[in-house]
Amino acid sequence: MLLDGKVAIITGASRGIGRAAALRLAREGAKIVINYAGNHAAAEKTLADIKAAGGEAVLFQGDVASAQAAGELVKAAQAAFGRIDILVNNAGITRDNILALMKEEDWDAVIATNLKGIFNCTKAAAKVMIKQRAGKIINMTSVVGIMGNAGQANYAAAKAGVIGFTKSVARELAGRSITVNAIAPGYITTDMSAAIPEQAKADLAQKIPLSRLGTPEDVAEAVLFLASDAANYITGQTINVDGGMVM
Ligand code: NAP
Repeated sequence: MLLDGKVAIITGASRGIGRAAALRLAREGAKIVINYAGNHAAAEKTLADIKAAGGEAVLFQGDVASAQAAGELVKAAQAAFGRIDILVNNAGITRDNILALMKEEDWDAVIATNLKGIFNCTKAAAKVMIKQRAGKIINMTSVVGIMGNAGQANYAAAKAGVIGFTKSVARELAGRSITVNAIAPGYITTDMSAAIPEQAKADLAQKIPLSRLGTPEDVAEAVLFLASDAANYITGQTINVDGGMVM
């Protein structure tokens, strides 16, 4: 197995892409800390599915936007499994609106979860990885952080910020053999994209070279690659998992 004995924290692992990444990494032998915001039932389901497949995992409820919670998340991982090899900064939210109608609280919430959350969790986990002189950090950005998107100025700003953060921290941590990379998914079928009407999804698919929206499992495969030793010489990069939408 590719991740035998490794320990992975995955934020936002109760649903969608985080859940798929948790199941995929667990299948390769990683022990998983499933972080989530408040959806206990979904988090319990991820935990049960990992255990049913013979894997090991624990739950940690906590808001990544809180530095205190991020510190506790890292402590919980150490208490449960003794080390941290992989951090997948996946938790994210949307609060879409055109700029003229975007409320200050919608701007703040998206920046707090999608950008500051990554700062909080990376800072806390990197301390442990630096001592171990090894680690893999994977940050979830979006094609929207590269292209921009009308109605998502807050989300695009946060996701573009994630790319700059990824490159800077990759440079800082390279000397300790810690890699830091980002994944930019295109349109992936999760609760986050569920609000898009079916006709709009069909129209979107037509504009994607691979002619379909992505699945959480498509993204989980890229997470696995970047978390594995196969990616040891890759850092500071953003890998698009978008069916060719952006090239
Ligand atoms: P999703 O299905 O809406 O799931 C979001 C996950 O994040 C849930 O597990 C949720 O926990 C958790 N979460 C939200 N706020 C949190 C917080 N403050 N602290 C801790 N956990 C929190 O989303 P998704 O589509 O899988 O998206 C995952 C990531 O991929 C996000 O960063 C998103 O921006 C990015 N992405 C998604 C798409 C797409 O098309 N879906 C495209 C590009 C990028 P609860 O279940 O407890 O609420």
